[in-house]
Amino acid sequence: MEEIINYVKNKKESLKEAINKLSFKIKLVIIQVNDDPASNSYIKGKLKDCNEIGIIADLIKLPIDVKEEELLSLIDKLNNDNSVTGIIVQLPLPKTIDAHKVSLRINPTKDVDGFHPLSLYKPATPLGIVAFLEDNNFDFKGKNAVVVGRSEIVGKPIAKLLLEHDMNVTVLHSKTSLEDLKFYLKNADLAVISIGKAHFIDKKFKFKKDAVLIDVGISRNELGKLEGDCLPNLKVKFQSPVPKGVGLLTRLALLINLYNGGIKNGF
Ligand code: NAP
Repeated sequence: MEEIINYVKNKKESLKEAINKLSFKIKLVIIQVNDDPASNSYIKGKLKDCNEIGIIADLIKLPIDVKEEELLSLIDKLNNDNSVTGIIVQLPLPKTIDAHKVSLRINPTKDVDGFHPLSLYKPATPLGIVAFLEDNNFDFKGKNAVVVGRSEIVGKPIAKLLLEHDMNVTVLHSKTSLEDLKFYLKNADLAVISIGKAHFIDKKFKFKKDAVLIDVGISRNELGKLEGDCLPNLKVKFQSPVPKGVGLLTRLALLINLYNGGIKNGF
């Protein structure tokens, strides 16, 4: 498996070349209704990524006290605007606004976050991970995948995607005993860990020597350093690093969704 940082760099280059050849522009609109520092930094990353590969990206920042109706009518306007390929409403939203209702209002053909139940797109983190594995010729068929964590944005959708790739999928969670965690991980060909507990997976867990370990978790330690759910350098064939691992794949996946959306919708 190649290093994720190089993989993402090359993939962005090829997307840029493909986008340059299109006769139309791909456009993302991000709506923000918060002053959250984490959101500001995610949005900055998305705008920069789009800009680098020739996708137009606009940010519409609405006041915190905006009425739900106003936000919904802005979404309607963007849904009907043929120049807009993708719409993202950055979370969190103020408590006065029903986030579920908002996410359902986005036209599924423009829901590049993949949150709408009828969305044409896959959620970014699972898509980014699976695209990386596919491009590195990972052998999915009939192999054992263990997903630790069952969130709506990572655990559940990636379990479904891996099942669609003919893997034998086991999903574990906080009610799984330590003994069972060890048992299933020991037999995993692919382990995806998304629990949010720094270095939870450490040397007490044994893996197959050919196992691929994908670490989704991100926690910040008391020194402000980012740490994954897995202790670095465990004895496996490939372990994704944190930082510069799944975070980069997640960012790349949004660009893939936007490109595919542009091609599909043809405007
Ligand atoms: P989440 O909503 O934070 O939920 C945590 C999941 O882990 C739950 O399903 C929970 O089980 C399970 N869990 C907690 N403790 C466990 C334990 N001791 N053993 C087994 N399972 C345990 O999950 P998430 O949204 O997927 O986020 C997880 C981490 O990934 C966070 O650090 C988040 O910041 C990170 N993340 C990173 C990216 C990226 O792009 N790199 C993207 C998304 C998320 P229960 O269901 O039983 O409570």
